[in-house]
Amino acid sequence: MSQLALQQVAVSYGGFPAAVDVSFSLEQGQIGCLLGPSGCGKTTLLRAIAGFEPIVAGSITLRGQTISRPGAQLPPERRKVGMVFQDFALFPHLDVQRNIAFGLDAMNRSARAQRVREMLALVELDAYAGAYPHELSGGQQQRVALARALAPNPEILLLDEPFSSLDSELREQLAAEVRGLLKRNGVTAILVTHDQHEAFAMADQIALLRQGHVMQLDTPYNLYHNPHSEFVAEFIGQGNIITVTVNEAGVLNDGLGTLDKGHRHWRAGASLRLLVRPDDIEYDEHSSLRLPVVSKSFRGAHYFYELALPDGQRVPCLTPSHVGINPGQQLPVRFNLQHVVLFDDSRCELVNPTA
Ligand code: ATP
Repeated sequence: MSQLALQQVAVSYGGFPAAVDVSFSLEQGQIGCLLGPSGCGKTTLLRAIAGFEPIVAGSITLRGQTISRPGAQLPPERRKVGMVFQDFALFPHLDVQRNIAFGLDAMNRSARAQRVREMLALVELDAYAGAYPHELSGGQQQRVALARALAPNPEILLLDEPFSSLDSELREQLAAEVRGLLKRNGVTAILVTHDQHEAFAMADQIALLRQGHVMQLDTPYNLYHNPHSEFVAEFIGQGNIITVTVNEAGVLNDGLGTLDKGHRHWRAGASLRLLVRPDDIEYDEHSSLRLPVVSKSFRGAHYFYELALPDGQRVPCLTPSHVGINPGQQLPVRFNLQHVVLFDDSRCELVNPTA
């Protein structure tokens, strides 16, 4: 039995479809993520799971119990759901232990004190039990918010952009730490974010949304390496999608290289859309393919180059930072086409390998 299951869920605001035909499930201890650009419906779905938004189609079940269906829903306070908000929403006039104890009214005094001690140990803030939120760093406040949400032992934890008020370096590190903590304790959770690095650092499974629709439900690895559409390819990771032509043998125009045919058959002159990630183009001083540098930026260990193809399309390339070719000069490169992602010219579907 899934811990959480959404089946063909739809949510509307006055007839405007904010979420459409959304299905996914999480097993006990799995971490899911709703990822996508602003306005794609992430918060709407999180609110529907928490019970703040009614659904107009489908169903939501928590440990097999239907908690939402059209026309009927369990109120938020009766769902065993914990929430961590963007701004942490800690009570400024309560110290850490009283913040954590906030949702534990139903427990007697000693059980409550015991639970607070457990939660403080869990988030490694034992030494801060008597501190007030303003005396804590952003990362520590975040851990208090997590402890408060976990204290009542929810069946699922919902995290609404929980790292967005922290600076970007801290975010990824904290996302990985929070993942470790949730995994060690077998907590099932859903994260909402528009930041793919956070999503990658935390989630087992990501639903990438666009205009209320799930575009791809997959592991972080597959979203990056096997995007099913150009939208996913462009949203996830860095890269450009270029149009190329191919002959029957898989040879690309302009000496860009030869595709690994596998079971594929190309029609001579067929036009393909090719996803080029920076790591798909390698610096090779012996290569006869030399592309003019349009721009160059220093990234510490690497230079990030934008290169121009003969027809004017642009491609990205990373080189070790000792390769210092300037804009206007030519960089010798080789396309690494072994794991390349191709789309057909309808610009929306993956090329079917057996077509
Ligand atoms: P963001 O990343 O900007 O928070 P989001 O992906 O969480 O965006 P939602 O807040 O779920 O997006 O909104 C989805 C769509 O529903 C948007 O078009 C938004 O304008 C609309 N919407 C959200 N809340 C309401 C509301 N209360 N009434 C009417 N429309 C709403």
